Amino acid sequence: MSDTTSINPNGILAGKRILVAGVTMDSSIGFATAKVAQEQGAEVLISNFGRALGITRRIAKRLPVTPPVIELDVTDADHLAALPDAVREHVDGLDGVVHSIAYGNPATLLGGKFMGGPWEDVAQAVQVSAYSLMSLAQAARPLMSPGGSVVGLTFDATVAWPAYDWMGVAKAGLESCSRYLARDLGPEGIRVNLVSAGPLRTLAAKAIPGFSDLEDMWATRAPLGWDNADYAPTAKAVCALLSDFFPATSGEIIHVDGGFHAMGA
Ligand code: NAP
Repeated sequence: MSDTTSINPNGILAGKRILVAGVTMDSSIGFATAKVAQEQGAEVLISNFGRALGITRRIAKRLPVTPPVIELDVTDADHLAALPDAVREHVDGLDGVVHSIAYGNPATLLGGKFMGGPWEDVAQAVQVSAYSLMSLAQAARPLMSPGGSVVGLTFDATVAWPAYDWMGVAKAGLESCSRYLARDLGPEGIRVNLVSAGPLRTLAAKAIPGFSDLEDMWATRAPLGWDNADYAPTAKAVCALLSDFFPATSGEIIHVDGGFHAMGA
């Protein structure tokens, strides 16, 4: 077992073992979530895949406690099958799993490229960004006994946005997927919820052509205001859902968007 030492025995996640999947940079929402989770007492593991794994290992050292880094491509059946053993090298189970993963080809699917988006790219976007919530939950299921919390990240998929295009369709799939997971995993004591965040200047977001249109809307319409470089409100909401403070909540989407979603104009 490697060192996943807790730094706050009195935090809301004290004693919880949490896997945060989808950490590349320190600007990743997953990074901010891992940081808050550690500050709240959790033992944290993080994962990423492919060429960025080296970056993730370096970035991991910037967290309060350097967490184990697991290789997990959510489209790779071997990685998913190996997840329980990979996790058990460090902790003996999981109380929470964070899905902070999405991908859509910005050149073909985003930034006004909705019409004519090629199916191969759409299929990839849906697999990585929506279907993978089920894949990850299924892979982590044997580790989450007697129960746990799965939390994913969405961008409000109830409406059409400028620039978001096929990622919006993938997010609609993710939102529906979380409800079906809540149905099927609830009897095992596993809660499944999403946080719907406003626009944040992460690597993935900056790759979306026209992302600044969304940022401009938030700047004028979010009643609480919105800081697109402050990941802490989103990370805190994810951690709250991982904690015991939402014991009877599942299939829910919590908005962390400065109140934007509730405004008509
Ligand atoms: P990010 O830092 O780029 O995080 C996305 C992560 O997904 C990256 O670590 C990426 O790895 C990983 N990933 C992509 N394909 C994968 C695969 N096949 N297997 C495993 N991991 C894979 O961007 P982020 O903004 O923090 O995104 C995290 C989540 O928040 C996403 O679901 C995103 O849609 C959601 N969200 C973001 C915003 C926003 O404005 N930023 C708003 C609402 C919701 P690589 O970097 O190596 O590709």
